[in-house]
Amino acid sequence: MAALRIIDVDVEPLSIPLREPFVIATGRIDATRAVLVRVRLQDELTQRRGTGLGEAAALPPVTSCDQPDLLRTLTAASTALLGASFTGLRGLRDLIDGVAGDAGLHLVARAGLESALLFAWAQLLGVPMHRLLGSQPNDDPVRAFQVETDITIPIAAPAHMAQLVCRWRALGFRIFKVKVGRNDDDGGCEGDVDAIDAIASDAPGVRLRLDGNAGQSEAQARALFLRALEQGLTVELLEQPTPDAAPLAALSTSLPIPVIADESAGTYNDVVALAAAGVSGVNLKLVKHGGPLEAARIGRFARRRHLALMAGAMVETRVGLAAMLHVVRALSPGRQRPSRTPAADRAPSPIAIDLDTAFLLADDPFVGGYHAHGPWLTLLADGPA
Ligand SMILES: [Mg+2]
Repeated sequence: MAALRIIDVDVEPLSIPLREPFVIATGRIDATRAVLVRVRLQDELTQRRGTGLGEAAALPPVTSCDQPDLLRTLTAASTALLGASFTGLRGLRDLIDGVAGDAGLHLVARAGLESALLFAWAQLLGVPMHRLLGSQPNDDPVRAFQVETDITIPIAAPAHMAQLVCRWRALGFRIFKVKVGRNDDDGGCEGDVDAIDAIASDAPGVRLRLDGNAGQSEAQARALFLRALEQGLTVELLEQPTPDAAPLAALSTSLPIPVIADESAGTYNDVVALAAAGVSGVNLKLVKHGGPLEAARIGRFARRRHLALMAGAMVETRVGLAAMLHVVRALSPGRQRPSRTPAADRAPSPIAIDLDTAFLLADDPFVGGYHAHGPWLTLLADGPA
C-alpha cells in the first residue's frame, strides 16, 4: 500500500445563516459556527490526487468549543499536516491523533479534519467514502442508498411549532423531531404540553421524536410521552430527556420505545457504560465522536449490543451531513443473499435518521454528497464539493 501525502490543507470559517433562530433547551444560534477543512492528497506511487471537504461544526453550549477555538487549532494543525504522509487507516488515525495532541484539537475539529481526509482518499481511489468505513462488500453497486430524515422543530411558541410541522409536512416530511425540555418557572412543563397539543390539533396523527436535550426530568419525559399518545400522535423515540444514565435506563425499561442517549454518549466508553446501565439507544454524531471512523466503531458496538441507533448532526451543512450518511451506509446491511433465515432476523433495525439541518439553512454553498427530495436523502458516490 502506497503512502498518501497531504499536499494542501485549507481552513476557513463556515458561517451560514439559519432560516430562523435554532432554539433548544440549552441554547440558541442564528448561523452555523463551523470551520470548513479542505485537504488534497497525493498517492506517492501513482501520483493520483484527491480533494476532500470536512466540516468541524460547533454548537455551543452543546459542544464545549466554539468557532474561534476551532479556527485557531485547525490552523495550527494544518501547518503541521502539510507535507505529512500516512499509509492505511491506522496510519491516518495515528497521524491525526499525533497532530490533535500537539495542536490541542477538540473532537469537533478532529471530525472535520478526518472527514476531509477520508473524502480525499476515497476520491483518489475512485470509491465512495463508506468503503473506507468498512461497508459490506456484497452490496449492489447499482442500487441507490436512500434514507428518510426527520425534520427538527425547534422550541418556539406552540402555535408556531405547529405551523412549522404543517409547513414541512406540505413539503413531504413525515417525521418530526420536536425539541422539548423548556421548563416553566414552577418546574412544570406546560409549554411542552401546549406545543404537543398544538401539533396534535393542527397535524393530527403525525410521527414525533421528542428531544429533551437533557432538559427534562424523568417524570416530565414520561408525562409528555403519555400526553402525545393521548392526543393520538405516534412517538417513535425519546432523545436524551434527562442528563443522567439512571433515569434514561428507567425510561428505557418502562416505555415501549427506544430512549436514545445523545449528550451523554460522547465516547466509545460512554456508550459501553450506557449500554451496561440499560439505556436502549444512542445517537451517533461525527463531532461528538471525533470523526467517521470512531462513529462507525461506536455504531458497530451498538449494533452488537442491539441498541437502537440514530444518526444526527449539530447544525451542519451538506458537507457534514454527507460524511455522516457514509457512516450510516457503512452500518447498514448490503445486498442480502438468498437465505432460509427470515429477513427480519437478519436485518438490524433501521437507523433513525436525523440529518436535516441543511434544510434549516438560508443558503447551501456546496453541491453533491447526496441528493435530497423532500425528506429522502440519496447518497451519491462522490463527496460534497
Ligand atoms: Mg439531541
